[in-house]
Amino acid sequence: MATLGNRLHQLTPSATMHMTALAERMRADGHDVIGLAGGESDFDTADNVKEAGIAAIRANITRYPPGNGREDLRRALSLKLRQDNNLDYPPDQILVSSGTKPLINAALMALADPGDEVIVPAPYWVSYPEIVRLAGQNPVFVPCPASSGFRLQAKDLASAITPRTRALLLNSPNNPSGAVYREADLRELLEVLLLHPEVWILTDEIYEDICYLDKRPVSFATLDPRIVPRVITINGFSKGYAMAGWRLGFAAGPKPAINAMQTVVWHINGGCTSISQVAGAEAVSGDRSYLERNAKSYRARRDLAVAAINKMPRLSCEVPDGAFFLWVNCAGTIGRRTPGGKIIQSDSDFVAGAIEHAGIVMLPGSPFGMSPYFRMSYSIDPTILRKALERLHAYCDALA
Ligand code: PLP
Repeated sequence: MATLGNRLHQLTPSATMHMTALAERMRADGHDVIGLAGGESDFDTADNVKEAGIAAIRANITRYPPGNGREDLRRALSLKLRQDNNLDYPPDQILVSSGTKPLINAALMALADPGDEVIVPAPYWVSYPEIVRLAGQNPVFVPCPASSGFRLQAKDLASAITPRTRALLLNSPNNPSGAVYREADLRELLEVLLLHPEVWILTDEIYEDICYLDKRPVSFATLDPRIVPRVITINGFSKGYAMAGWRLGFAAGPKPAINAMQTVVWHINGGCTSISQVAGAEAVSGDRSYLERNAKSYRARRDLAVAAINKMPRLSCEVPDGAFFLWVNCAGTIGRRTPGGKIIQSDSDFVAGAIEHAGIVMLPGSPFGMSPYFRMSYSIDPTILRKALERLHAYCDALA
């Protein structure tokens, strides 16, 4: 009998998708469920961007796209990287693909070998370990607790590096913690990485437009010319630009690495939808004033949610500097009993109880590599967010 491949045994299905599907099922059964589990913008794609996509269809821009992405989009991205991020990448050092996810996959497959180690600071985006394992590599998790602002510390990086380390996955602003690395943090990491010339640095900057600091987050490749040949800057349109369904992302880096990634990714998806690329070029070159407006809106929701959570018994959270999640410590609930009589032994139990007794869907911390925590998205209408917070408060009050 034909069986499934061994590779699959190392993978776990996406926790995000599981909880989102659970919420859908409960809704279909007539329950009033509020979904705070998803990782996507609640804004619509901007009208000018939608119109550009529609015009692209009408103009028959529907044939195979170039393997590295359309020239007009890569030119626009080159300009964006210079203006926004102080990065100097000509269009031929930029690779466009269908989201950042395939680009991270391609980077690891192209730049490292099976059996190599990839450093993943925890908490991490749930997909990182799976992407590393898919490439036959081993994730090495480095805990980044609240006491270090959920940011990787230089000394911990130094002790995690071994002769097999080939890459570091850095994500700022971070999903799930919302932590944003300051330039001083990055410079300390840089000092360590300069001692290890065999290590690639993959920086996932997808939440850069949802940042509450005065300045845009610092891109690692701006720190020092000596590190530039080893940094792949990865970014996409799913978050700030609210274009998750268009499946559009890009990577910039040294030409040999970008060419190698292109070879890999081409064999996987044969390029990125031409229509999305035209829309993406409009998104970066056209009116972008909504990015700041949306970030302000997220900031207000963050403030509302942080204040509410920190008033709830047995829960606490730090004030995140970016992304649209709260990363909530629920250690105080362990050992308590839910209204259904179940003893909470883990963050998964807490979250399962919140679905059952409060009708709110969130994600447990364990698949993000840190417990007992849960991730709550505030990318939702503020009125619904307030209702969800009231329900969560009542659930916490009811824990015996
Ligand atoms: N990187 C991080 C940190 C994310 O949180 C996500 C989506 O949740 C992605 C990448 C995926 O982005 P894309 O939609 O561009 O594949």
